[in-house]
Amino acid sequence: MESQILHLDLDTFFVSCERLLDSRLMHRPILVGGTGDRGVVSACSYETRRFGIHSGMSMKLARQLCPEATVIKGNAGTYTKFSEQVTEIIKEKVPVFEKASVDEFYADLSGMDKFFGSYKYACELRNYIIKETGLPISFGLSSNKVVSKMATDEAKPNNQMRVDFGLEKPFLAPLSIRKIPSVGKKTYETLRGLGILKVKTVQDMPLELMTSALGVHGRTIWKRAQGIDRPPLVPFHERKSISTERTFGKDTTNITQLRTTLTAMVENLAFHLRTNDKLTACVAVRVRYSDFQTVSKQMKIPYSSADHILIPKILELFEKLYQRRMLVRLVGVRFSDLVSGNYQIHLFDDTLEALSLYNAMDTIRKRYGDRAVVYASSMGAKSIGRFHNPFNGEPPIVLAHRTQ
Ligand SMILES: [Mg+2]
Repeated sequence: MESQILHLDLDTFFVSCERLLDSRLMHRPILVGGTGDRGVVSACSYETRRFGIHSGMSMKLARQLCPEATVIKGNAGTYTKFSEQVTEIIKEKVPVFEKASVDEFYADLSGMDKFFGSYKYACELRNYIIKETGLPISFGLSSNKVVSKMATDEAKPNNQMRVDFGLEKPFLAPLSIRKIPSVGKKTYETLRGLGILKVKTVQDMPLELMTSALGVHGRTIWKRAQGIDRPPLVPFHERKSISTERTFGKDTTNITQLRTTLTAMVENLAFHLRTNDKLTACVAVRVRYSDFQTVSKQMKIPYSSADHILIPKILELFEKLYQRRMLVRLVGVRFSDLVSGNYQIHLFDDTLEALSLYNAMDTIRKRYGDRAVVYASSMGAKSIGRFHNPFNGEPPIVLAHRTQ
């Protein structure tokens, strides 16, 4: 039996959330993002598109292009709440699903044919989400994730599309190669340079030609163009988490050392989140005292992978948890409720400079090791993964017993 993969995507998600909270924003040009001159557009309503506005653009330029737009500073907490509301519904209605980002889901409807018809089921699910949450959502249904995602894109806004098995190639043929997921700006330029504009051209090319032009990536694009690439669904688990902990060589009450270690841990875990395009919605701290009594505390937060948001949360939890005068044997940090996604959700807290700072720091870490660049406030931490003193390459002097 052919598989039936559903792709669901909330339309202009942040904008839709804002419109739910304030109906006066309906049918108006809306920009969500950093409101300062150095801010970035993280979402924009369809009404702004004809002005050439797109997400990722500087807010200053967007305002110049469309002065009548209403500019709203985004709120990651609100969007996280709505995202979780939609997730709850999908969890209840389908056996296996993937949460691909805060506003995007895949569900495996294979086998439902026998009883309902997958398309009918998908329609009912979409209508139910709209009714329950008030958020517009679109879907694509086909035999694989890639074609379904592209079908959703064609269906938008607030609509649906199904591509029957065997009709994938003709559906894809007239589309721009830009629409194939994983064809970024650079690949698009390369393909355009070769005179390739439509998916049809790739479909008619021998695979060898694509691999000689683009290597392994060329193979993926070729398979996607044929409608035969079948990436697996990654089932959603709320408990998916990453964590790290450290046992001190000598039990300590040194608050500076404890805070420094926690900061370094967050910095390291957040780097791994960003590297893997993940966001966390739940942070936790664990403290084990010298008598082995272990306490922990966790906190729900808006989806994030940014150090400047996560570090204060962890330190705040630690303040609540830590009972002074008791010797600490171990501290640990855990991030859970992970979803795929990138910076976009908290772009409005960031300036272009902050974003490029993260990018630059992460690039250095990928190249030279994950402690190659660190915050001054975490420099004293001894061993979180590999460690080099960024200034002289020597191991740092441990601050553990320094009195402040
Ligand atoms: Mg969306």
